[in-house]
Parts: sequence; structure tokens; C-alpha cells
Amino acid sequence: MATRYSDDLYLLDLSFQGQHHAIASWLVRGERGWIIIDCGPDTTRTELVASVESAGLDMRDIERILLTHVHLDHGGGVGTLLREYPHLRVTIQAEAVQFLIDPARLIRSAGMSFGDKMERLWGEVIGFDADLVDGIVAGETVPGTSLRAYATPGHTATHLSFLDSATGVLFAGDAAHARLPESALIVPTLAPVELDFDAWHTTAQTMLGLQPSALAIPHFGWVADAQSHLEQVEERIAQRRAIAEELVRSPADVDVLTDLYAATTRAEYTAEGGEVDDKVASLELAMPSYLGGQGMMRWFKVHGWFEG
Ligand SMILES: [Zn+2]
Repeated sequence: MATRYSDDLYLLDLSFQGQHHAIASWLVRGERGWIIIDCGPDTTRTELVASVESAGLDMRDIERILLTHVHLDHGGGVGTLLREYPHLRVTIQAEAVQFLIDPARLIRSAGMSFGDKMERLWGEVIGFDADLVDGIVAGETVPGTSLRAYATPGHTATHLSFLDSATGVLFAGDAAHARLPESALIVPTLAPVELDFDAWHTTAQTMLGLQPSALAIPHFGWVADAQSHLEQVEERIAQRRAIAEELVRSPADVDVLTDLYAATTRAEYTAEGGEVDDKVASLELAMPSYLGGQGMMRWFKVHGWFEG
């Protein structure tokens, strides 16, 4: 389903695993055609196409897929999408291009997080011809658009966010965390394997300095109070980290940490009120507690908190 924000901007709800408010794509008008920001996984490809059509467009109107980062919930479907629609071009951070054209490493890494859920969550993950990708680096503008790339590492090392210089909207990707519609609660997007708190500190400052008019985020939707949201990005990470520091004594504690993250998120939504089960269902698909647990555990391990 498409939601219109302006003549040039639509939000597409990809109904990931049949659940609304889990994964969004953003549809932005460029000079040569429309741009899909974060196309989602292969398992939502049919819904993506239907959403494009519900915006009154056709896939032939789409010129380019722009990815904030390589995670499968954002770009896992790009290979099968290009197979179906070979006129499309792809833009991603230059060093991340290799993970798209040959996704073997990406699949192996994701397999360690998602195990036997891989196929059900992500479907087919395939590579494609390197000629179809335009690598981009921070400071450059996406061809045919007013979208300028900013380096926003922390969630992943090569993460980019895109500021639309025409409107001031920041397509933040996962750098500004997850936040559901009609909720004030910001849920950190902590995930293995490149989680980097120092980099995220700089990223939070970068995003605040851009003074965006609004945020457009993949998990999930439109954030009108951009500045106060961005001011909480680091504080929310610190809260999740404090929970882990209290608890984690060995790598085996990951399941306990995961359960505690899930319980914490549920308690926070309960305190906020509204449709708690629905919010938890969307959030746990968008940003599962087990990824938060794994991400934090991995960071502790890399930084020598425990042996093993
Ligand atoms: Zn991600």
C-alpha cells in the first residue's frame, strides 16, 4: 500500500510477513524517473510492485533502486527485482557494491543470525551484473536527484543516509533507529556484525547538524519531530547498552539478553498504551530483539569483554 506525502514522495508498506509497519520503501520522484529507496527483500517483491501501482505508477516509471545499506530487509530483493525489471539501475555506497553483485558473504553472515528462518524471511538472494550499479560516496548526489549522500556508520560500516536538498527530508535508513507510526518510542537498530558505538556517536552529530525538516525511515514511516527524535538516538543506544552491561558475563548469555530486550520493548510500548501487541509484532519483524542481543554480544566479544 502506498501513502502519499506529496506529488513527489510516497511511503510503501511492504507488508513484510503479512504485518504492516514493519518494512517501508520510499518512492521519490527524480528528474529521469522515480527512485525506490530500500526496495526490501525478495519475499515482499510482489507487494512492492503492487504498492508502486497503488501510487498510480508502473515499474517502467522507476529508474533506480537506492540502498542505504546491504542488510537483507533493505536490499535483499534487489537481485530478483533486476532480473524482472532489467531497465533498473542500483545505487549503493561504493565499498558495499561487491556484497550485492556477489551476495555469498552477505548470505553466509545473515545465515548466522537468521538460521532456518532465512528462506521464509528473505526468499531468494541473487547477484547481478556489476554494470548495473553506480557506487556512491558521501558528499555525492544520486544521479538525476536532489538526494545528497551522508556517511552514517554505526548500524553498518558503509551505511549512507540521503538528504533531499529540495525538501530537507532525511532518508535516514537505520541510522536513526526504528519508530512506529503514532508512537514516540525510538527502538535502537542494534544488529551484528558491524555495530560501532563510536561511529554512531559521530553519525548522531552529523544527522543533528543537517537539521532535517523530517525523517523518512524504513522501520517505519514519517517522523515529523526530526530534531527531538535525533537528540534521543545516542541516549537510546546507551540505555540498551546499560541493560547488556548489567547482564552479560559470557557469550552464552545471548538468549537471556534477547529475552530482556524483548521484555523491555514490550514494557515500553505498554507504558505508552495503544495497540501493544500490534506494535510489538511490527517492531519484532522490523528490528528483532534477537538481532539486538546478537549485535550487542558481538560488540562485547570484539572488544574483549569476555573470552570465547
Ligand atoms: Zn539494517
